[in-house]
Amino acid sequence: MPGLIIGGKEVDVPGVAIRNFKDDPKLALRVGRSDGPNDGRTRTLPVTLVVLHTTKGIPGGTDKREQVILPGLGPDTKAEDRTATYWSTDPTQSGAHIVVDHDGSVACLADLQTVCAFHAGQSDVNNRSVGIEIFQGGNAEMYAEQLDIVRKVVDALTSAFGIQRQIPDYYRRNTPIPRLQKMGGRDLYGVVGHRDVSDQRGKGDPGDSIMDVLAKNDYERFDFFTNKDIEVWKQRQRDIGGIDVDGVPGPQTNAALKKLGYKDGLWALPPSVASTSDPTHNLIDLFFPTLVAALGGDPKKAISVLSDWLKKFS
Ligand SMILES: [Zn+2]
Repeated sequence: MPGLIIGGKEVDVPGVAIRNFKDDPKLALRVGRSDGPNDGRTRTLPVTLVVLHTTKGIPGGTDKREQVILPGLGPDTKAEDRTATYWSTDPTQSGAHIVVDHDGSVACLADLQTVCAFHAGQSDVNNRSVGIEIFQGGNAEMYAEQLDIVRKVVDALTSAFGIQRQIPDYYRRNTPIPRLQKMGGRDLYGVVGHRDVSDQRGKGDPGDSIMDVLAKNDYERFDFFTNKDIEVWKQRQRDIGGIDVDGVPGPQTNAALKKLGYKDGLWALPPSVASTSDPTHNLIDLFFPTLVAALGGDPKKAISVLSDWLKKFS
């Protein structure tokens, strides 16, 4: 099964059907005009963000209808083909890297590591982000399993690029995050919505549902307005030791976490005490991150506390 294209390599996403521009050149994003936006141009910044969109952006603008999340998967609407055709002829040269249709089929329209797409309305954010369009129907509808497939694609992207699994706190301010809109996201790693980057889009781009799906999985909510993430990451960096304490979980932090056994260097994927199908160990896996946090972010200490505890009962 074809996969996402990242730095020329094909990356499979388990359980997700992907078509890419190498298999079907019609899907390829067109390189932007020299006087136009940066669609299809070569990136000059590393990928540190994923930006989520809905194709209709409802609710947004004058359309106040709430999103409808239907169970299961929906029909194949050929959204990826229509979107790719639209984008390749659109005079404003907009476009995102990935489209996810109602039936959960995924299209990858460009090399995610090297090619910039014009989707977020902020050129630095475009330069350092992968854009995903979630197809939304005319009744503002999306499908629960479609959103879960988006989550699997985001999992694959955060792992591949070493982007910490963090998302904005609840969208209660109804306004973009200045660190994205004004600063271009230079100190913010994570998964955000178009609404967090641009004031041209409303709440429904991408809406709360997909953010809730991420939060129910491994994604931490942070109030990026008050720099809560920076505060927390400074503490984590101090606990790790031997690295810069700047509150920005960049490549150095990622590498240090990888060394400590965190999968893909992600805080959300702490070292597993045991990888057996023993239900006791599954339970330990569940509360291990909490234990690590309680011990000041030190997984080694947590493992030693746990093994002492296990000895008592063996
Ligand atoms: Zn959007």
